Amino acid sequence: MNSEQLLQADYDYVWHPYSAIESEQPIFPVASAEGVRLTLADGRELIDGMASWWCVLHGYNHPEMNRALEDQIKQMSHVMFGGLTHAPAVTLAKRLVEITPEPLQKVFFSDSGSISVEVAMKMAMQYWHAKGQPEKQRFLAFRSGYHGDTFQAMSVCDPVNGMHSLFSGVLAQQHFVDSPACRFGEPCSDQDIQQFEQKLAAEQGNVAAVILEPIVQNAGGMRFYSADYLRRVRQLCDQYDVLLILDEIATGFGRTGRLFGCEHANISPDIMCVGKALTGGYMTLAATLTTRQVSETICNGEPGVFMHGPTFMANPLACAAALASIRLLTESPWQQRVEHIEQRLRQGLEPCRQLSQVADVRVLGAIGVVELVEPVDMKTVQSQFVEQGVWIRPFGKLIYLMPPFVMDDADLQRLTDAIYSVVQGL
Ligand SMILES: *Cc1c(COP(=O)(O)O)cnc(C)c1O
Repeated sequence: MNSEQLLQADYDYVWHPYSAIESEQPIFPVASAEGVRLTLADGRELIDGMASWWCVLHGYNHPEMNRALEDQIKQMSHVMFGGLTHAPAVTLAKRLVEITPEPLQKVFFSDSGSISVEVAMKMAMQYWHAKGQPEKQRFLAFRSGYHGDTFQAMSVCDPVNGMHSLFSGVLAQQHFVDSPACRFGEPCSDQDIQQFEQKLAAEQGNVAAVILEPIVQNAGGMRFYSADYLRRVRQLCDQYDVLLILDEIATGFGRTGRLFGCEHANISPDIMCVGKALTGGYMTLAATLTTRQVSETICNGEPGVFMHGPTFMANPLACAAALASIRLLTESPWQQRVEHIEQRLRQGLEPCRQLSQVADVRVLGAIGVVELVEPVDMKTVQSQFVEQGVWIRPFGKLIYLMPPFVMDDADLQRLTDAIYSVVQGL
C-alpha cells in the first residue's frame, strides 16, 4: 500500500478516537518514530510535543526499552494470570509498591487507564459492601475532571464537557462539585473548600469514595490547582469516612515535577490508578494500587474475592516494558530534566500571553498550556502545526505541550515557537 492507498483505506474503514469514519479531519500516516521525532510516510519529520498522549518518557525506539521487550518475548509474550504468575508481574508490583506512597501495598493490573478506574471504583464499592454499609455506593467527583471512556469512568467525568451527555440516562448518577478555584502554588481558604466539604458532609452516607486527578485536571481542561486543597480533601475524606481515589494516570511518573502528583500535597490515597506513562509509551498497561486495609476488608467480606479479572491481566511484555521504563526513569536525573523543561516551556510560551487570542498561559512540570479565548478549528490548525514540523494536537480552547522528558532545548524551542506563530495567525 502506498501512502495514498493507505489514506483511502483509512478513510473507508477505520474509526479514530472521537471521530467519524469518512472524517473531514486531516490525518497523517506515520512510518516510524525515533527519539522525539515521528517520521511521516512522505518523509517529513515532526517533533513530538504530545508524547503520544503523554505516555512516552524516554523517546521512541529506545535501545534499552527495545532490549527489555526482545528479552521478554523470547521467554513468553503472554500467559493467563489466573492460577499462574511470572517474574515480570511480581517484580513490577513490588517496584510500584516501592515508588508509590507507603500505605499502598497491593497491586491489581489491567489493560488501560479506563479499566484501572473501573477497578478502583469497584474496589471502593466492594469495600463498603464488605463493611456492612452497602448504601455507600456513589462517588463524589469534580467538574472538569476526566477519568476515561468506559461506563463507570464516564459517570465521574465532567458532566457537561465530558462528551458523554448522550449516555446520561444510563450512567450511574454521581455527585459533583466545582473544580478547585485556588490555583497551584496558592493556599486553599475555607471558602475554596466549602462547596466540597458541604457536599461531602451531606452525602457521606451514600458516598463510597471521592475520585479526582491530583494537582492537574488533564483532559477535562488542563487546570493546575492548589496542593493545599488536595491536602484538605484527604483530611475531609478521613473525617467523613469516605475513601479517596487518586487518578494518577496522567500525573504519574514525573510529569508534574514529582514522581506522583499526590507528593506535592504530601498525602496518600486509599486507592491509586496509574497508566499512560507506566510503560514509557511502549505498551498498554495500567494498575490500581490499594492499601492493606482496603484489600483485607474486601477479602474478609462477602464474596471474599475481588470481582475482576481481565484476559490480558499483567501481560508479561507490558510488565517488562514498565520495569525497563521505571528503571530508566529512576536512574536518570528526571527531576532536573522536568525542572529544566518547565523553565523552557515558561520562557517559550510566555510571549503568547500578549496575544489577543490568548486567555491564559500556564506551565507546571513538563506540561505547558496556552488557553485561547475561542476554540480552535482543528481542520486548519492541525495542518499548520504539521507544516511547521511539529506534532501538537489541541482540543477545544487548549493548545498544550507534554513532551517526552528527553527532549533538548532546540526542539522545545521549535515547539513553543510553532505555538506562538500558529496562535498569532488565528
Ligand atoms: C487518559 C486518562 C484516563 C483513561 O486512560 P485510557 O488508557 O485512555 O483508558 C483516565 N484518567 C486520566 C486522568 C487520563 O488522563
